[in-house]
Amino acid sequence: MLPQPCSSAPSRLLPSLILCSRLTVAAAASSPSPSPAGGHGPRPLRYAVLGAGFAGLSVAWHLLKHSPRDSRVSVDIYDENGVGGGASGLLWKGAEFWKESMDLLRSAERANGATGSDTTSQDSSLIWRRQCIHLCSYSYFGPPGSLFNESLGIVRPPTTEKAADILLENAQSCLESCSLQVLDSDAIRRLIPGLCAPFDFAVYMPLALNINPRKYLQALFSACQNLADEASSFPSEQKEFKLYKQHVNNLHQLTGEYDSVIICLGAKALSLPELANKLPLRTCRGVIAEFQLPSDTVGEYGNQSPSILSDAWLAFQGPRTVSIGSTWQWKSENYSSTVSDEEALTAVDELLPKASGVYPGISKWDFARARAGIRAMPPLTTNGSLPLLGCLDDILGKKSKCTFWLVGGLGARGLLYHGLVGKLTAKAAISCDENVIPSEFTSWKAIKP
Ligand SMILES: Cc1cc2nc3c(=O)[nH]c(=O)nc-3n(C[C@H](O)[C@H](O)[C@H](O)COP(=O)(O)OP(=O)(O)OC[C@H]3O[C@@H](n4cnc5c(N)ncnc54)[C@H](O)[C@@H]3O)c2cc1C
Repeated sequence: MLPQPCSSAPSRLLPSLILCSRLTVAAAASSPSPSPAGGHGPRPLRYAVLGAGFAGLSVAWHLLKHSPRDSRVSVDIYDENGVGGGASGLLWKGAEFWKESMDLLRSAERANGATGSDTTSQDSSLIWRRQCIHLCSYSYFGPPGSLFNESLGIVRPPTTEKAADILLENAQSCLESCSLQVLDSDAIRRLIPGLCAPFDFAVYMPLALNINPRKYLQALFSACQNLADEASSFPSEQKEFKLYKQHVNNLHQLTGEYDSVIICLGAKALSLPELANKLPLRTCRGVIAEFQLPSDTVGEYGNQSPSILSDAWLAFQGPRTVSIGSTWQWKSENYSSTVSDEEALTAVDELLPKASGVYPGISKWDFARARAGIRAMPPLTTNGSLPLLGCLDDILGKKSKCTFWLVGGLGARGLLYHGLVGKLTAKAAISCDENVIPSEFTSWKAIKP
């Protein structure tokens, strides 16, 4: 028995979102015996996406986007916390990762505009300053004046000789379309008054973005709704998209209801009984601390200054608020986003010296709050630490016609990875063909957890 969508989603959590597809509601009202996709005719293909974080929403968006025209598709997304409840260099396929995540960001930006959100306040705007991925060198976007160019980028001052060498090498070998600029001390001071560069230079990444993850995920959710609604305006096409705010205890409870189930539960995939001890993932808890500059203190952070990436990252959200991250506590089993006073103190003790090494002015800022999450860290391969993708039927043992898929192990790069891994997995699920996914992403199956 399936739960009713939307019934328990508090408006507090998703203030600007209508949780059901508008078309679903209309169809349910007008149809005497609606089929699951809201119309008459053959049964639609039914997908369940477990988790509404970066991975789950990307998969949902791509399922709606890439299902064939004239098809009937229903995508149900399950998340115990609603949208974005989780943890919400040079890389293998770096350019592709970057392109796909930028495509999703643009779709979310359009949906954000369509919902009429006020983008003038820091809290509601989708892009702060720094995208939490360090791949600005692969950026392909950016007609002048576009929203993405309005961001102020990231500055990276090296703090060790090794980091200095790598940064200089990257700056020299970056693609022509990339923008990695080496700044001397004077240029640094003009860009960020008060920045301290121990090696007298920094690398500036003007195209890097600073994302407001919760706001972005809400907008991506809206983009999924819009896709479903738009597709359903064609008579031969029916697409449904629903969110169920519900905890998933096990995979068994979904068998029989769906053609495919795509597991996007972040580190909590390890808690599913069917996957216990079957995934080569390590957990790593991280704390992010927010600081504010007291209203009576001078030394505001320049509105035109970029964020800073160093041994810690400093993501500025306006002239008087900064998030500093993050800590790395391996093997943690503490999944709570709440940070105790003791944990906050330890995190601040660890983060502040790193931050003040490059921005000494931070000593005038006050600690405001902290939040935490768990990263699902994948194993290191010759191509780096890649997410775990693929069909799970061989691992779970195929017991029904339902096919299970995994998108896991996004580690500390969820924002960078989610676009491409969501697209590949959606295409694999639509075509029922794991070969759509490059074998580098599925090779984890040979690793003993
Ligand atoms: C402190 C910290 C800092 C980070 N910094 C960065 C950064 O700068 N840049 C970057 O790109 N990435 C960063 N990351 C990593 C990024 O947050 C993750 O890679 C990303 O969140 C993974 O996305 P996901 O969708 O796989 O999992 P999650 O975001 O964890 O989403 C999983 C979803 O599943 C839901 N869920 C879990 N279990 C169940 C269940 N049983 N039933 C129903 N729902 C369930 C959760 O509520 C959640 O919404 C950071 C992570 C942490 C912890």
